[in-house]
Amino acid sequence: MTASETGLSSGVTTALGTAPSPGAVPAPAPSPASRALRLVVLGRQGSGKGTQAVRLAECYGVPHISTGDAFRSAVRSGSELGAKAKVFMETGELVPDDLTVGIVEEYLAGAGQHGFILDGFPRNVRQAEALARMLAPARLDVVVNLEVSTEEVLRRLAGRRVCTNCGANYNVVDNPPSVPGRCDVCGGAVAQRADDTEEAIRQRLEIYESATAPLVDWYKEEGLLATVDATGDPDLVTERVVAAIDAATGSL
Ligand code: AMP
Repeated sequence: MTASETGLSSGVTTALGTAPSPGAVPAPAPSPASRALRLVVLGRQGSGKGTQAVRLAECYGVPHISTGDAFRSAVRSGSELGAKAKVFMETGELVPDDLTVGIVEEYLAGAGQHGFILDGFPRNVRQAEALARMLAPARLDVVVNLEVSTEEVLRRLAGRRVCTNCGANYNVVDNPPSVPGRCDVCGGAVAQRADDTEEAIRQRLEIYESATAPLVDWYKEEGLLATVDATGDPDLVTERVVAAIDAATGSL
């Protein structure tokens, strides 16, 4: 799939690039690695995956790809891909694998060829197998699994607000924008995601349990899994994640 087919007209790097994170503190310095990191972040909706992925991208100097951001950008651009994806996203369903794998393949052949932080992909075993094929003979360095209780993810998702322009994340309860409804980073409109309705959240969490959670065991068997407690202050979570990555990739 090409950039024009995906509708990501400004190029994969820009459209899939790292969204700014308001109020992010400088991330802890990782141990120097002799080559770029290839990392997947797993975690339920509301686990803080997006926030941590943005910080890790900065910290390790590798690009961040969020398939969810890519689809939202395609929907905004009015592309054919966006029109196809929208139907699934609105109800909390997964977008079909052929569309999703195509986007990631294009990215890994371009901006992600020297390392990456993947956020929101893979979402099922078929996608994980496709990713392994794309990377071969290389493989992932580590898969970070962010663990949060169901109660906490429901609380976070109900209050989540996102900048419709740059993708920066807020929470009405514990991280609101300084001016209500306006993004601190770019001044764009801050709104609830269309798929953060109660029904769509329930559907996405169910799909996570049935389709995505099996990846935890899958990557454990591959010896790639690092599980991290993702409750509490996001800065502390970042410290835990960096420590887990450094422990897992000590031999890089
Ligand atoms: P996210 O921002 O990661 O929660 O993704 C938002 C929506 O985009 C999901 O509910 C899916 O409809 C779609 N999506 C994102 N990533 C994938 C993926 N890897 N496979 C299928 N659908 C995806």
